[in-house]
Amino acid sequence: MEKTQKPALKLKRLQEMPVLGKRVLVRVDFNVPLHEGEVSDDSRLRAALPTLRYLMEAKAKIVLISHLGRPKGKPEEKYSLKPVARALEKIIGAPVSFSPECVGTQAEKAALSVKAGEVILMENLRFHAGEEKNDPDFAKGLANLGEIFVEDAFGAIHRAHASTVGIPKILPSCVGFLVQKELEFLDRVIGNPARPFVAIIGGAKVSDKLGVLNKLLDRVDTLLIGGGMAYTFLLAQEVSIGKSLLEKDRVPDAQAVIDKSYVKKVTCLLPADHLAVSEIKPGVKVSVTQGMAIPNGLIGADIGPHTIEIFLEEIEKAKTIFWNGPMGVFEIPEFAAGSRAIAEAMAKAGKNGAVTIVGGGDSLAVLSQTGLSEEMSHCSTGGGASLELLEGKILPGLSAISS
Ligand code: AMP
Repeated sequence: MEKTQKPALKLKRLQEMPVLGKRVLVRVDFNVPLHEGEVSDDSRLRAALPTLRYLMEAKAKIVLISHLGRPKGKPEEKYSLKPVARALEKIIGAPVSFSPECVGTQAEKAALSVKAGEVILMENLRFHAGEEKNDPDFAKGLANLGEIFVEDAFGAIHRAHASTVGIPKILPSCVGFLVQKELEFLDRVIGNPARPFVAIIGGAKVSDKLGVLNKLLDRVDTLLIGGGMAYTFLLAQEVSIGKSLLEKDRVPDAQAVIDKSYVKKVTCLLPADHLAVSEIKPGVKVSVTQGMAIPNGLIGADIGPHTIEIFLEEIEKAKTIFWNGPMGVFEIPEFAAGSRAIAEAMAKAGKNGAVTIVGGGDSLAVLSQTGLSEEMSHCSTGGGASLELLEGKILPGLSAISS
């Protein structure tokens, strides 16, 4: 049976490492949204809890490193991880010290001062250009902070950065519990999913999703395509799409996906109707199209009620459901109905025993809007990483750790 990584990588796991009393450097993904200096969604902090609790109980000296946002290689106050340290304290119910530097003498001194069972969070890795450039000296500076390295930043393992591939060259390394859980769920999708297996793929960009669509066609029974990317597929089927989102140069690729679905005997469904508008903004007049076609001058902003009905029928029958990408411009409430309906149907299918897996920041945002995150079997913390794994790519952050 083909597995997530090809060839299978042998990854050392945290539970196999002698962490008792050791200084353990953990790469976490604390790239959380901040609003007025406060963490507005702490899901990614909570996702790191199993690893943190394990290390605290093992009386390790815990040194956390992460990136936040895109500060372009120099310090920027709005991307400081300091508020994240405060939010983490509340979640773990223990003090979290903060180091305003992540490399250099002061940072090393701060890391050395951590006592058994205590936690320190270092400042944003991306305040240094060496992080994204995978600079060996920067990686060495980071490696000086610990004796053992734990990779638990699932959202960052598809990047070849100093903290993901540079450190494992220097320190004994393993994967933490979050990365293990993510791999286990994606393996279920790729390995031996309960059937029928339905994948729902949406979002704006066809080009980002082509690899995963092609791979999914080897696995799924049904593929539901929605969101802005669906219009490139509809045009490939010679359906008029008005002024809707289009990646013209991807029309042949879209057609190839549809052709492959016939060969593979996969039911591939495109939107059968749409919410159409003259402009994508709140408060505009919305009309429901009579069929697949979008009238001249109008834009498809969400899947229509008939499409919802058809998609839900497939989801109801499914035993494994994977969803990545919104069905419409969900950020505007008028165009969120399609995505919300998918979330609700998945929650219902989950209650009836289906395995439900959601990846991608936008789909997760829809889940938290609808309060349904807890209802899913698994919410992936890394949209990009989960798509690349499903495509069968070998992720740099994992091959760096494999023995
Ligand atoms: P992606 O990053 O490719 O997954 O795309 C996510 C974005 O797709 C979200 O910001 C949505 O607003 C956008 N989106 C979904 N449906 C549409 C649509 N019909 N037209 C334009 N944008 C869309």
